[in-house]
Amino acid sequence: MFPPTVQNIFSWTIQLSAQQDYQALTHNFLDILADIPWIDSANAYEMYEHERKKPGDTATVHELLIRRFPLDFARNDDENYNSLFAGLDHASDLHLSAVDESGSYTWAIFPIRGSSGPERAIHIEGAFNQKMLDLLNNLRAIYRNLVILHDTKERDVLTKLPNRQSLDVRLLQVCEHYRYIDNPEGESSWIAILDIDHFKQVNDDFGHLYGDEVLLTFSQLMGKCFRYNDFLFRFGGEEFVVILNLACRNTAMTIFNRFRESVANYHFPTVGRITVSIGLTRVDGVSMPTTQLDHADKALYYAKENGRNRVVLYEDMIIPAQNNIANDIELF
Ligand code: GH3
Ligand code: MG
Ligand code: MG
Repeated sequence: MFPPTVQNIFSWTIQLSAQQDYQALTHNFLDILADIPWIDSANAYEMYEHERKKPGDTATVHELLIRRFPLDFARNDDENYNSLFAGLDHASDLHLSAVDESGSYTWAIFPIRGSSGPERAIHIEGAFNQKMLDLLNNLRAIYRNLVILHDTKERDVLTKLPNRQSLDVRLLQVCEHYRYIDNPEGESSWIAILDIDHFKQVNDDFGHLYGDEVLLTFSQLMGKCFRYNDFLFRFGGEEFVVILNLACRNTAMTIFNRFRESVANYHFPTVGRITVSIGLTRVDGVSMPTTQLDHADKALYYAKENGRNRVVLYEDMIIPAQNNIANDIELF
């Protein structure tokens, strides 16, 4: 099918512009590309900047981690797409194979830049000439514009983290996953609400602008502390949410406590020290997402009532209740 008909082009544009969010848009775009006969495969990738400092090293190493779309929390970390992008000039707007003996390109990588989300790229394999490449470039432009629009809607302006609306969609997906493989003893996902302690005081003492700077730095600390296959959100105000994936109970507690400590030990410019309270619960495939958020919120409330700067697991609060021991659950 080349050149495409006007009808083809309208149909693609209508489909793409009808998608509700970034995930649906990207699935639709890849489907459209895969349906084109001279394209064999189309994949989307997301790139995450990662800072690594090995023990004993003085300098921090900047790494670019590549992940295939969709980010699948159940996938192991050992899948590595970095080799696909190794050696490419990351300032370039198009990466192309050499032409083969029939004069066709066999692969192309189209970077998708300019949105508030991570840098992305579309990788296409097939057999295409310059005119086909021009068509792909135009499709890329439409897709990119829509990605920017969706990111504006789905991400928080200050921290660039996915917002509350994106959390609702993502949490539903994670719950769906556990509907079929619920395994309370094994690795699971954990939903945590992180609320900065006495943040109103930061605003009162230093002003709203410095408050905003703390929120931004806090979100960057989150980015460094959690793995790139965990999902981070700004829930609203000084509250953030983490969906921590592929962790058993003890690992989850260790990771959240490590983050709590790194916040407490961090010297925020001007403001100095702040602390964070964290309430979390295990994601299961049975209860409603809103119920799970409510449980994390109850655990957070307990952390606030019991000294702040602590991590509380909802499940630890309800076990004494089941045993009929004098317990804290009455607090609620
Ligand atoms: P607690 O330890 O109980 O959580 O106390 P807190 O002061 O952190 O909680 P409270 O809910 O009383 O106050 C939250 C404050 O966060 C109030 C509001 O002014 C501030 N805030 C919310 N959103 C923003 C924002 O985008 N920027 C700034 N600078 N402040 C914000
Ligand atoms: Mg709050
Ligand atoms: Mg607070």
